[in-house]
Amino acid sequence: MSKPSSGPGSKPLGRFFLPGPTEVYPEVMEAQLRPMISHRGSAMTEILQELQAGLEVLFCTKRPVYISTSSATGLMEAAVRNGVRSKLLACVNGAFSKRFGEIAAACGHQVDTYDVPWGAAHDPAELRNRLKKGGYDAVTMVHSETSTGVLNDIKTLAAVVREFDDVLVLVDSVSGFGGAEVRPDEWGLDFLLTGSQKALALPPGLAFGVASARMLERSAKAERKGFYFDLLKFQEGHEKFSPHITPALSTIFALQVQVKRMLAETMAVRWARHQKMAERTWAWVDEMKGKKAGLSVLAPKGFRSPCVTTVAVATPDLAPTIVKAVSAKGWTVGGGYGKLKPSSFRVGHMGDHTLAELNDVLNVLAEVIE
Ligand SMILES: *Cc1c(COP(=O)(O)O)cnc(C)c1O
Repeated sequence: MSKPSSGPGSKPLGRFFLPGPTEVYPEVMEAQLRPMISHRGSAMTEILQELQAGLEVLFCTKRPVYISTSSATGLMEAAVRNGVRSKLLACVNGAFSKRFGEIAAACGHQVDTYDVPWGAAHDPAELRNRLKKGGYDAVTMVHSETSTGVLNDIKTLAAVVREFDDVLVLVDSVSGFGGAEVRPDEWGLDFLLTGSQKALALPPGLAFGVASARMLERSAKAERKGFYFDLLKFQEGHEKFSPHITPALSTIFALQVQVKRMLAETMAVRWARHQKMAERTWAWVDEMKGKKAGLSVLAPKGFRSPCVTTVAVATPDLAPTIVKAVSAKGWTVGGGYGKLKPSSFRVGHMGDHTLAELNDVLNVLAEVIE
């Protein structure tokens, strides 16, 4: 699958390395120009049936894959509204995992946080200690913390939560899914959610969720879960292949094309491609060791996301200048997120990027960093 050297926009493709939204392949983009159809008609049923079959393969699940017309945060809220009765343990190690806890608090739940420094991963033994205190309905965690580039070992952490009776595991894999291996059924995840605009390389506007049977049981008894994000409505819509609201049809047309492309690549190959891009980025940071700026990979070895690398810059306030200088050369990398803005920049090596394109942006970065 070769990539055309220029897209419909002003910038050629292969230069946009934000950790979301990510570059969208032209063929996927163009699918959005298709005429509207009735979202209650037979054409829609066929589309959703075919999508479901493909999404099950991509998500490594036998469960339905719900398609939500919302950004990923919408399904974070769904996770909380359907899966938490009153008390949540939020594993926090960056901006997005912090948001998960904030959403639960905003929904009126009692929230305890298991905080580790931004840039660290969560420790299964410590999670067990926290859960032993008891009283939690659910645990939230983020797979790939997009602010820090840390990859949590979701498989092990979920297994720890599963040692405790009736505690649900709610997982945000927004910048993980599509680039990092995740297996909701095998790993016992009660809710896995992701968004369209990260490693799935689609335009923003859709989110995807996989719910376990116990998540749906919990949802059936949930009070004040609202209407829009009621997972039982998603389940009903799935069974009839007829969604409970008008979905973002244009983005769904794009999804049809992208699912086919991903099935052709296969998830194993996609995961390996992301891992190679990440390893190249970490090696490049090592190669930059002699520079005055003082670069290092924020995440510790063994806990690094294959999709995004947060590069810490030792020289105070230099990071935003680097991002601007790269931009002036016609390339895009991400700035630091939240409190990491002055001290880091981020390379989003996810979606449909290639190693060759990544090498180009790393060369541009090397030129602008003293
Ligand atoms: C981007 C992101 C989100 C938020 O997604 P939206 O689509 O902007 O709502 C949540 N969690 C993580 C880990 C993310 O990277």
